Amino acid sequence: MQARAQALISASALTDNLTALSQRAGAQLLLPVKADAYGHGLEIVARIAARHQDVWGFGVALPREAVALAALNLGKPILLLTPPMPEEVAPLADLGVRVPVASLAEADALPGHARAHLKVNTGMNRLGARPEDAVDVGLRLARRGLLEGAYTHFATADEPELSFAHTQLERFRTVLAALPPVLAHASNGGGVLSLGALPGMALARPGLASYGFAPPHLRAGSGLAPLMTLRARVTHVHDVRPGESVSYGALWRADQPTTLATVGIGYADGYPRNATGRAEVWVQGERRPVRGRICMDQMMVDVTGLRVQPGEWVEVWGAGEITVSDVAEWGGTVEYEVLTGLGARVERVALEQRAGL
Ligand SMILES: *Cc1c(COP(=O)(O)O)cnc(C)c1O
Repeated sequence: MQARAQALISASALTDNLTALSQRAGAQLLLPVKADAYGHGLEIVARIAARHQDVWGFGVALPREAVALAALNLGKPILLLTPPMPEEVAPLADLGVRVPVASLAEADALPGHARAHLKVNTGMNRLGARPEDAVDVGLRLARRGLLEGAYTHFATADEPELSFAHTQLERFRTVLAALPPVLAHASNGGGVLSLGALPGMALARPGLASYGFAPPHLRAGSGLAPLMTLRARVTHVHDVRPGESVSYGALWRADQPTTLATVGIGYADGYPRNATGRAEVWVQGERRPVRGRICMDQMMVDVTGLRVQPGEWVEVWGAGEITVSDVAEWGGTVEYEVLTGLGARVERVALEQRAGL
């Protein structure tokens, strides 16, 4: 059976973004592929990125994601970005997955074949050892020969005001200065785009930026392009008369004869229901409004004056006229949430791979 919605993933856009970001960072990339590669499809993204010489490895949030990625045998390191449960440590080490460590107890519990990245809490206050404790943890790991890297995470690097990011960086550097040389990493996408190359940082971890999205104040001239084009099929075309309402709650009412195309995507696929009343899609080279409440599996698009057939595709978002950023704004949220919310019913298709690349 055919999918009603497809996410087409451009391998060349991903490759170009990775090249641009690694150059900007002056570092290799630890590409975050958590949450199904920000909704793009873990396997598709990881296979493309693994061929890129500037990708050192991958970052995942969950042990299950690490296991799925390790099973692809792509030959690049995987770092778990959140703490494993105690019983998960040995099986992760068996798979070669690097784990974050933030305490002496965690350092001591690692098996001898594990590899660790010291996690330093410099102000995000989510995970990691405080700077004053981190050195002891790092030295304990180094003495056991388990310390591969050290990292921290910025809280505000995607905002115009960067003084707190610089404070965090200074705290991190103080820790690094007391450790033997390790693979150090700090910048997320916002950090790469706003701070550029950071001396001493061998790696950077741009997530959303790798998928083509810069923070609003850095968007102009970022040189990044979205990888994903989301399209959905028209399943039904019909006319409504003036005065008739459309969809749940009868929120929208036609004031003239109107042709509607019912399109096979809805909030169960991750399209924000809160975008009702503002949403538009791209039909035959035109921006067309969604009429009435967005439903679980469907939405109704005003195609008055166009000749639209069931089976034809409309573009929900892409690199062109209507972007994920627009949809996020209509839905009162951010690109991260829209992309990672994309449902399992949406088929992920690698574009250039289909053409044999
Ligand atoms: C998700 C994540 C990133 C990527 O952040 P972006 O804002 O998408 O660039 C980097 N580092 C860590 C630890 C993360 O969890």
